[in-house]
Amino acid sequence: MSTVAAVEVDQSALRDNLVRVRQMAAPARVIAMLKADAYGHGLELAAEAFRDADAFAVATLEEAHRLRASGSSKRTVWLTGPRSAQDIAAARALALDLVIHHPAQLAWLEADPTQAAALWIKMETGMHRLGVRQSDLVQLHQRLAALDPAPPEICLMSHFACAEDAASPMTDAQVAAFRAASAGMAGQQSLSNSPGLLNFPGARADWVRIGGLLYGLSLLDDKTGADHGVTPAMRFSAPLIAIKDLAAGDSVGYGATWRASRATRLGVVAAGYGDGYPRSARTGTPVLIRGQRVPVVGRVSMNYLTVDLTDLPDADLGDIATLFGPELPAEILAAHAGTIAYEITCRAGTATR
Ligand SMILES: *Cc1c(COP(=O)(O)O)cnc(C)c1O
Repeated sequence: MSTVAAVEVDQSALRDNLVRVRQMAAPARVIAMLKADAYGHGLELAAEAFRDADAFAVATLEEAHRLRASGSSKRTVWLTGPRSAQDIAAARALALDLVIHHPAQLAWLEADPTQAAALWIKMETGMHRLGVRQSDLVQLHQRLAALDPAPPEICLMSHFACAEDAASPMTDAQVAAFRAASAGMAGQQSLSNSPGLLNFPGARADWVRIGGLLYGLSLLDDKTGADHGVTPAMRFSAPLIAIKDLAAGDSVGYGATWRASRATRLGVVAAGYGDGYPRSARTGTPVLIRGQRVPVVGRVSMNYLTVDLTDLPDADLGDIATLFGPELPAEILAAHAGTIAYEITCRAGTATR
């Protein structure tokens, strides 16, 4: 019996999710996001499952190194792009497409006669994170096109701030700003992330950049991956390692934040925030044992959490509790912990590896 929290990833779910995403995205091509260790699922494992994707995207050079070391030569976009002149040579050795979001990056490219990467100009349309101002776009595009040797391709992209909210006017405004600024400009285009693909199918353009849906997750209010026809690929589980009887009035855990209102059978599960389970998960957050949901009670600690087993008398030492997984979506845990499912999988994957 394992005594620790563990993450399992279902590669066939990842493969099936890619098929589903391709159907939704067609005729747009699909860039599979592998950043943050594939949202905690493991970059190499995810890259293998997504080998039919049209391209990959990573956030860091380290991720690109790992991807190439795993044997993948697929077209890969480096989302953050170079942060120094030296980064351009490093990216070239890894055959990465570069995202250009800042004028400083142009100067490094112009100074390096060996550069020859496909480029993605990232445009500012309302997110105000990474992106080139619309007033700088035409000149930047011209200077990038004039590089010698010429880039094999210059694509245009932008990123949605509010696509998970179908009623927000922000996305339509961003699409309009993108179209106006890029009017008459050659190059393939990419706007949508997962919530953009779901809520604004008219904005698919040439390429969609998909993370959450491929991992079986949803960002839409009160929805889970299953509502979109995808399957959560990660299961986070831990064994029940102690069971005890409490009297009415006994308190549980740090801060004594929860007190039994009746005679209570309390279970201790071997997972806590040190294993990537959110400390912010409130009393009442469901955990699945023997197919039944039981509530977390009291504060989550570093390696343990406590559950009320009074209504599950069959529960026994060694039972494996599912903290989230296909039968208990990460979106539900996230809602009880004040976060989103993406953070849940990233943290669980990182902590248990
Ligand atoms: C992470 C990311 C995406 C993917 O978002 P999902 O909601 O996971 O599909 C797309 N584009 C950019 C620039 C990103 O950073």
